[in-house]
Amino acid sequence: MSIGIPAPSSRPPASAQSEEETAALFKELGEPAFRATQLREFLFRKGIASYEQVTNLSKTLRKRLAEHMPLYELAQVAEQAGDDARKWLWQARDGARVESVQIHVPGRLTSCLSSQVGCAMGCVFCATGLSGFGRDLEAHEILEQYLQMWGRSGEHSSHVVFMGMGEPLHNYDEVLKAIRVLNAPPPKGCGIGARRITISTVGIVPGILRLADEKLQLELAVSLHAPDEETRARLIPVSRRYPIREVMPAVREFSRKARRIVTFEYVLLAGVNDSEAQARDLGGLLQDLPCKANLIPFNPVSETPYERPPLERQERFKALLEQAGVPTTIRYSKGRGVAAACGQLRRDAPGAA
Ligand code: SF4
Repeated sequence: MSIGIPAPSSRPPASAQSEEETAALFKELGEPAFRATQLREFLFRKGIASYEQVTNLSKTLRKRLAEHMPLYELAQVAEQAGDDARKWLWQARDGARVESVQIHVPGRLTSCLSSQVGCAMGCVFCATGLSGFGRDLEAHEILEQYLQMWGRSGEHSSHVVFMGMGEPLHNYDEVLKAIRVLNAPPPKGCGIGARRITISTVGIVPGILRLADEKLQLELAVSLHAPDEETRARLIPVSRRYPIREVMPAVREFSRKARRIVTFEYVLLAGVNDSEAQARDLGGLLQDLPCKANLIPFNPVSETPYERPPLERQERFKALLEQAGVPTTIRYSKGRGVAAACGQLRRDAPGAA
């Protein structure tokens, strides 16, 4: 055994290491530096579930690598497949659990990643919010969700959305660190274009303003869910701290600086935020801003009293927004068959060990 090589558990997984760190391990193992690059090329270009699949390295080297450095850190607890989505429940080394999903829509596969264990925002219609906040995920735990789903399904996602568990702008630094690796070309990262990466926020104003100054053309989706402060504060408690009157100028600044059209997400809850007056107010709020609106008919969550509005009410809401000049779609969430739709992710998925 080589002197100075720590036990496997004390070394970060290969997926968490920089190029330099991986090269240093290969040097300790007496292997040339280009072999480290070969491993990273496989990791970020091919999607692998284990060292066994790194077929450009010898069997002996693969075995030695497995002894000295885990490939990943998150352990799979459960996997559920539906018609249009596949969902995984992972467990971190400290026992924390998160879910992530691969979602099929015609012509694209999207990875929906979690940024935190649970969520501190407490949105009253959301299963994740109801489960409370555990901790922030580290950048490599976020990245790993993408890599492991790829390796295990054998399917490569062209798009990434931060719409899983957690509020990504509440864990800004680690999320941005993960995004930089997702965005960097191999062997530094996965080579996903910034315009294919969407951050979804309930409106954390300082985070939106910071994001506006990043030199990244990320997509921003803002969950508004009501056009007035009172209804919004009832649905999203944190909006008392970041009211609409502060969120909207921040979004305008993001749109101007990043030159991006912003998406506004709006969960339609029967009798709560789906009236004609609310549609008109929302239209007024979004006028003159380069944006589009996504209406999301509520996905039932057993612990909440909310219901999905009837179809004609959804269509009327959409029509009124479009009359106000806001391009609008009604998004029927993918993944309902495996409880992986918006607001349905949780830490204790049914079927978990
Ligand atoms: S909707 Fe998003 S921000 Fe709100 S509680 Fe759920 S995960 Fe958190």
